[in-house]
Amino acid sequence: MREVCHLRVKPMNDKITANKVVTLAYTLRDDSGEIIDRSSDGSPLLYLHGAMNIVPGLEEQLEGVGKGETIKATVSPEKGYGPRVGEAQEVPRHLFPADAELAAGMQVVAHDDQGRQIPFFITGITEETITVDPNHPLAGETLHFEVTVEALRDATDEEIEHGHPHGPGGHHHH
Ligand code: ZN
Repeated sequence: MREVCHLRVKPMNDKITANKVVTLAYTLRDDSGEIIDRSSDGSPLLYLHGAMNIVPGLEEQLEGVGKGETIKATVSPEKGYGPRVGEAQEVPRHLFPADAELAAGMQVVAHDDQGRQIPFFITGITEETITVDPNHPLAGETLHFEVTVEALRDATDEEIEHGHPHGPGGHHHH
C-alpha cells in the first residue's frame, strides 16, 4: 500500500497593500509607444505603497498586485504629473548663480517676493538664456506603464514614519 502525500505548502500570498515596500522593474511609454523612462537592470525602483512616492494613478493600479506579477497601467495626466499649466519662458542666464551647474531636465526652486517657493524645470540652455517651464516634463502626458513586482516586504515603523523606504535602493540619509 502506498501513501500519497496531499500536503501542499501554500506559498505566501503576498500582495501590494498600504505600508508594503515594493520593488518594481518598469518601462514607461508615451502615447506613441516610445519609451520615455525605464528602470535599469539591477537597479529597480523601491517605493512605499500608500505614501505617494509614485504617481497616484500607478499606485492605485498596483493595489492588490502580487509578487512576480506584471501589469500594464495607463495613467491619465490628472493622475500622473498633472495637466500642463502656464508657458515656458526664457530668462537671462545671469539670474542663476554663476557656479550653478545647470542641465536640461533639472528641477530648480525659485522664490517670489513673498518668499513662496516656485518649482520649475529647465528645458533649454544657451550661453545667454535659460528656458524654464513650470510644468513637469511629463505633465499633460498619458503614461503607459508596464510594471513587474520583483519584491515585496512589510515596511519598518521608521519607514512608515518617514514616508519612504530605506536600505538598498531606498534613502540612505538620516
Ligand atoms: Zn527616511
